[in-house]
Amino acid sequence: MKPKVAIFDFASCEGCELQIVNLEEAIIDVAKLVDIVEFREAMKESSDDYDIAIVEGSIARPIDEERLKKIRAKAKILIALGACAHLGGVQRLGNRFSPDENKKEVYHMARPEDISDGNPYFKEPRHRALDEVVKVDYTIPGCPINRVEFAKVLVALLTGKKPPIPDYPVCVECKKKENTCLYTVGGVCMGPVARGGCDAICPTYGGECEACRGYVSHPHEKAQMDVLAKYGLTAEEIMNRKTMFTSRYTEKKGGE
Ligand code: SF4
Ligand code: SF4
Ligand code: SF4
Repeated sequence: MKPKVAIFDFASCEGCELQIVNLEEAIIDVAKLVDIVEFREAMKESSDDYDIAIVEGSIARPIDEERLKKIRAKAKILIALGACAHLGGVQRLGNRFSPDENKKEVYHMARPEDISDGNPYFKEPRHRALDEVVKVDYTIPGCPINRVEFAKVLVALLTGKKPPIPDYPVCVECKKKENTCLYTVGGVCMGPVARGGCDAICPTYGGECEACRGYVSHPHEKAQMDVLAKYGLTAEEIMNRKTMFTSRYTEKKGGE
């Protein structure tokens, strides 16, 4: 019997789910290996009976936490899908400010009843990654995920192999492509500590890496500090400039 897979979403843009939909013909091959029993973005059916839960999005509200715990209790394997689930996402930047500051700066155009204290989200709007709430078995990183990597992880799981998520820095792939290092042209890049596997796509096209795939397990922090010092930057400056995906690592509470 094929394993049953259910795909769920929490606070997210649903872009990682879209990457699964974008597998196009390859999704037919995936469907030969598994039964997809719930996937709100692509089908109407839903089910409480599944083996593998693939979960996108960050956890913000008490009702999200309850729902995630129920999903975890039913699933034999739980996979965090994308940077929102892995790190808390871009929305985690809101954790740096008080509920009142967020209301004032972000939601000032909203209807007052939507941002009243009666809405549990505004009592403690703290976005968290899935593994800060429940046990996560595997993570597919990235914003968005790489759909080929998604398919490889699923195939590895179904054939009893370790999912092939790289654990080396983006710089490795960047150097293989013989890119000009952005530091040499006045840029700031998280490549030395960011997890590779994206083929260094951002620096290859002139964009600074923001570490959307999180950090490698054992980042060479000293090497990164040396690179920064060479270009007249401090750790504090880079942390203040590069917070889009990495708040998790610097928050006082809830970090890894
Ligand atoms: S990780 Fe990025 S693409 Fe995926 S759901 Fe979150 S914001 Fe969207
Ligand atoms: S720091 Fe950035 S631009 Fe420089 S080699 Fe590493 S990934 Fe490439
Ligand atoms: S280069 Fe950095 S920001 Fe860009 S996709 Fe790779 S890890 Fe993410």
